[in-house]
Amino acid sequence: MKNSTVKTAIVTGASRGIGKAIAIKLAANGYQVVVNYANSEAEAQRVVAQIEQAGGIAIAVQADVSKIQQFENLFDMAEKTYGPVDVLINNAGVSKLSPIADSDDDLFDYLFNINVRGTVNGLKLAAKRLSQGGRIVNFSSTAVATSTPGMGLYVGTKAAVEAITKVFVKELRGRQITVNMIAPGLIQSEMFFEGKTAAQIAQMEKLSPLERFGSVDEVADAVAYLVSEDAGWVNGLLIRVNGGVA
Ligand code: NAP
Repeated sequence: MKNSTVKTAIVTGASRGIGKAIAIKLAANGYQVVVNYANSEAEAQRVVAQIEQAGGIAIAVQADVSKIQQFENLFDMAEKTYGPVDVLINNAGVSKLSPIADSDDDLFDYLFNINVRGTVNGLKLAAKRLSQGGRIVNFSSTAVATSTPGMGLYVGTKAAVEAITKVFVKELRGRQITVNMIAPGLIQSEMFFEGKTAAQIAQMEKLSPLERFGSVDEVADAVAYLVSEDAGWVNGLLIRVNGGVA
């Protein structure tokens, strides 16, 4: 149901992991939430059910963020259902480990299409369609700071997101929209465990001075702050939510 006094947030890649935690957190904070997914429809519907059971408002909408037409449809569905969109969380992303020397065109295209083109698609649409006073949060990675071997192309995508975001902040002059970035690190999600051995994971658990992994909810808490009224003067900031590892 359209309720223009309630704010609306699109969270890309919200079928699991960090995006799911953000969708649940923002819904608990009173936002109408659009739970985006690319492939995992059942998981996305479960996120919506979980939000509704807690008294929140959400819909699931399929869209591959790397396809501009599908991202447009995502905005169309959000606006048709809830009215103008106030918040865009460009969380959707993919990672695949490979030394640069062994990487091929397919891996390059896969990572850059989703992580960079997908984020840029969101920014292009948000620039035209987000409400005055809106909020955007883009996703980088702590791996940009740690230069971890095997993550070269992935790090390249996230460094591009950081550089593009800094320009975009300035190009939004006059729109009263803040654009900030989160760079998670050592967060327990499917992406984090992908391609790592048990021994590697055990070793990584001690990397942070806090000597543990972070949770998806701890990333969602930082996002909730950045989109809140309290963060009105915070613009162009990168927050590394990583327990102090870098
Ligand atoms: P995840 O558990 O692998 O979840 C990724 C989400 O993105 C899924 O919901 C997936 O949905 C969605 N997605 C993938 N490709 C998509 C596309 N083309 N269009 C729309 N949605 C798409 O990952 P995560 O750990 O939560 O990561 C979330 C963000 O944080 C990413 O940008 C990642 O790079 C960043 N990050 C994570 C960590 C960490 O420690 N976990 C560290 C640094 C940065 P489907 O299943 O439907 O495809």
